[in-house]
Amino acid sequence: MHPSVHPTSPASEEWETPAARTAILDIAEFLADARRLVVLTGAGVSTESGIPDFRSPGGVWSRVPPTSYRAFMSDPAARRDYWRLRRELRGLATSARPNPAHTTLAALERRGILAGLITQNFDGLHQAAGSSPDRVIELHGTTHEAACQSCGARSPIEAVQARVDAGDDDPRCPACGGFLKAATILFGQPIPPAALAAAQALARDCDLFLVVGSSLRVIPAARLPLLALDRGTPLLILNLEPTPLDVRADVILRAPAGQALPRILAALPAD
Ligand code: NAD
Repeated sequence: MHPSVHPTSPASEEWETPAARTAILDIAEFLADARRLVVLTGAGVSTESGIPDFRSPGGVWSRVPPTSYRAFMSDPAARRDYWRLRRELRGLATSARPNPAHTTLAALERRGILAGLITQNFDGLHQAAGSSPDRVIELHGTTHEAACQSCGARSPIEAVQARVDAGDDDPRCPACGGFLKAATILFGQPIPPAALAAAQALARDCDLFLVVGSSLRVIPAARLPLLALDRGTPLLILNLEPTPLDVRADVILRAPAGQALPRILAALPAD
């Protein structure tokens, strides 16, 4: 796994090189011709909203190793650790607001060119920015709901969190007694097949694939651009760091998404 070195947004003079300006215009040109754009976003789209990506120095994983799904399901101590960490982190997702990267992607949808927005994030900020929920595929689930790991029942996460706050450190489903956890995907937990199939179909059918703020190291999300590339579809990558698919991209822009996406939108011809 590659560490993220830019937990915050660099100043424009640090990234706005002549090459970056050219890349902005190139991306705008691709977008102007697109009719079925698919966007894949990762944690990098939300760092400018104050939610750190996971692998940054000083980030969550450097302090608390992630719980695996197997440990969560088999070990009461792992479940207690999971809920303890959530208590520590929950303010992040509940107080965060969309940044200009999210609102620009919502604006691209309003231009009528967006076939779908696939996100690895579970923070709900795309929908908060105005992206239509039915255009957003949350591959890694949502942190705003709890899911029973036995019967699948969903409930608002706040209600479960309130039980944890009151001392219930291994909360169970009121209907079936199954373990409750946030409706996000832990390591080793399969992605819901319907969400993955929908994302794969979008990737195969699009005429332009744009990656924003993803390391392209988390599978299966990282494989989605390959489905587009296999059909000759252009790939554009906007990410602070190099990714394994940079060698196959038509345009690479290394810039903070919240600063760069509005510039790209401004470079598009008026609707
Ligand atoms: P990731 O694949 O999501 O990578 C994040 C990438 O974003 C890094 O390569 C980094 O260089 C880049 N980046 C950071 N700030 C950026 C910015 N302002 N503009 C452009 N690029 C930027 O991997 P991860 O961070 O290790 O997270 C792993 C998984 O954990 C994610 O796939 C996601 O499911 C989950 N996660 C979700 C959130 C969230 O919901 N906001 C936050 C952290 C992690």
